[in-house]
Amino acid sequence: MFDRSTLPNSVTIYEVGPRDGLQNEKFVLPTLLKVELIKRLASTGIPAIEVASFVRADLVPALADADELLLEIAPLLSTHRMSALVPNQKGLDRALKTELREIAVFASATESFSKANLNNSVADSLDIFTPVIRQARDSGLDVRGYISMCFGDPLEGKVSTKQVVDVAERLFGDGITQLSIGDTIGTATPGDVVDLLAAFDSRAIPRSLLAVHFHDTYGQALSNTLTAILEGITTVDSSIAGLGGCPFAKSATGNLATEDLVWQLHGLGISTGIDFQALLDTSAWLAEKVGINIRSKAAIALINQ
Ligand code: MG
Repeated sequence: MFDRSTLPNSVTIYEVGPRDGLQNEKFVLPTLLKVELIKRLASTGIPAIEVASFVRADLVPALADADELLLEIAPLLSTHRMSALVPNQKGLDRALKTELREIAVFASATESFSKANLNNSVADSLDIFTPVIRQARDSGLDVRGYISMCFGDPLEGKVSTKQVVDVAERLFGDGITQLSIGDTIGTATPGDVVDLLAAFDSRAIPRSLLAVHFHDTYGQALSNTLTAILEGITTVDSSIAGLGGCPFAKSATGNLATEDLVWQLHGLGISTGIDFQALLDTSAWLAEKVGINIRSKAAIALINQ
């Protein structure tokens, strides 16, 4: 039974458009437009934004401007929760030269994706992250961990909950402060979400330290998100205008769109701190001024109405 009394009063939206989103688009957004996007997103009241990645410029050209971008948005870093992805020690060295107070590391639950995306086995990638996480924490930074392929993998099929919680336990042991559970190919359905969260319970990892990151490739993102919220999750990742596409399927739909998520949460009486009209104005700006294809159904329905 749908029980409203189990819903939280508020949910924290973690906006991933400027990093995860733009990394997986075919175009490269110029630095000044990224800066404007981040400023606009911050002004909507979105409480947390992932803004950049310190990967090698030749590997991800769309995010090659991380150092310059962080200088441009430096004033926002003291007033807003913002993070950047750090793949290794070199990335951490760059992050520590900025005003960032949070970094993120990106692990995989499956060997196939780890080798394809991180160029390492799961174990070797975790060995690279351990000193990075510890040094970041010693330097006073929060560290967000991501695990991708938490439900399905394009080569391996269904992923066992044990694979996910083994990686999670290791990352928490190294000192991460939050973990985002990623359904990278978007195949999970709500029962899978319940099963995986139960596996986290079995390792005594509290839900207050977990976030969910669903992709809408199979149309399941909002159902899975609501299931996670009913199960006690209060941090949800999403991307303005659904930026990001899907890197592993022909579908145009990848990241859950922030506008659709806010529409649902506010409809349920759950506060987000976000000014929905300001969010729509940002979507309209992306579409009109930047020429980005909006994939949020709520934004498409409401803009120019
Ligand atoms: Mg994503």
